[in-house]
Amino acid sequence: TVRARADGRRGPPTTTAAPDDPFAPVYIVTSDATWQGIRGLARGVARPRDSTGMPLVIAETRADRLGDISRYVHENERRCGGYFAFPDRAQAEAFVRGDRAKLAMAKSALARYALDNQATVGRWLPQVQEQRLYDTINHLSRYRNRYYASSHGRTSAEWIREHWQSLAAGRSDVTTELCSTCSTQPSVILTIRGWDLPDEVVVLGAHLDSINGSTRNDPNQLAPGADDDASGIATLTETLRIALADGWQPRRTVKFMGYAAEEVGLRGSNAIAQSFRASGVNVVSVLQVDMTNYKSGAVTDMKLISDYSNTDLKNFFVTLFDTYLAPMGLTRSNTACGYACSDHASWTNAGYPAAMMFEAGDPGGSFPYIHTPYDTLATMGESAQHSVKFTQFALAYLGETAKTRGRVTGGPAQVLPAQ
Ligand code: ZN
Repeated sequence: TVRARADGRRGPPTTTAAPDDPFAPVYIVTSDATWQGIRGLARGVARPRDSTGMPLVIAETRADRLGDISRYVHENERRCGGYFAFPDRAQAEAFVRGDRAKLAMAKSALARYALDNQATVGRWLPQVQEQRLYDTINHLSRYRNRYYASSHGRTSAEWIREHWQSLAAGRSDVTTELCSTCSTQPSVILTIRGWDLPDEVVVLGAHLDSINGSTRNDPNQLAPGADDDASGIATLTETLRIALADGWQPRRTVKFMGYAAEEVGLRGSNAIAQSFRASGVNVVSVLQVDMTNYKSGAVTDMKLISDYSNTDLKNFFVTLFDTYLAPMGLTRSNTACGYACSDHASWTNAGYPAAMMFEAGDPGGSFPYIHTPYDTLATMGESAQHSVKFTQFALAYLGETAKTRGRVTGGPAQVLPAQ
């Protein structure tokens, strides 16, 4: 299970994931299509299929080659992610054997959810502040990197946890934790306990790490990761701020997650999803936000990821968008992102319903500065305006999946000045 240290400091850190050794072997699970492009970087050891029939390759590589593999994926396939990673072959094989993606994509999810919480969502939507999104992206992109194997990767995760905790001051129904077994870097989890259906869990997630695809496991690499994915963490943070400042109490339990080590094989999210599966946690729906702040040219505002996602949940996302965002003049489209392109794939593999909303990008469907030192607010016009839309979407998702039990009165529901 995920052994989380309650205060993030006491007790010995327990790391079971890949060590920092740049020459340590790493076993990746990737699609056969991606494998064809990275054959010079890894040695294939098995060719299984997942539960959907997708031809996969399990390949052995080294930690210092993961940057080159990431660079291949983003340069040739115009996306991030692209593989799951494991410290040994047996774990990689067990992962593929236990895959539940087919079940997760087809299972009935949220079918009984009517859109009946306009009272809460309508109150929240006008409260999104671009300046606060900007401030969070700015803070996170000023670490030299948030690489999973660097000290910056750890301190930035600790900052997110402390910041989220500060937003929940005075709330005894809100807890935060660092998952110290998720990777060499901790994942961050904030939980708001549900009042009526505490065992039904709604997840909102984004990855907190960053990578520079041109450096080889260098802990001092320059990887600001403003769009990828400080923008997603900022989207979650502003969503959380508005809900808590409103004194909102959910009917279902809600977990906000900042995932470790997405860029090196979806390690943080996979550790959490597998741990939840092993302990029978009933996650009823997962929203993934990975890159929310880049838009260039005549493109739609948001793209629903079509693959490795739950069908009911995708339809629910469309209904949410058309109900709450389309009336504001926003537009949507669909796109596929390939095998293991972001953390929703970890939940899908573990059997849970997950879906992802992705940024507009440029007319070619991509963000030109991904995994480079130029992934900064400067190359996004010194603005967080596109993340405003995703925060509105996340608020609609939060209100209509977790539902409203009531509001805390006389509590901490005051708006703090912008930092
Ligand atoms: Zn990303």
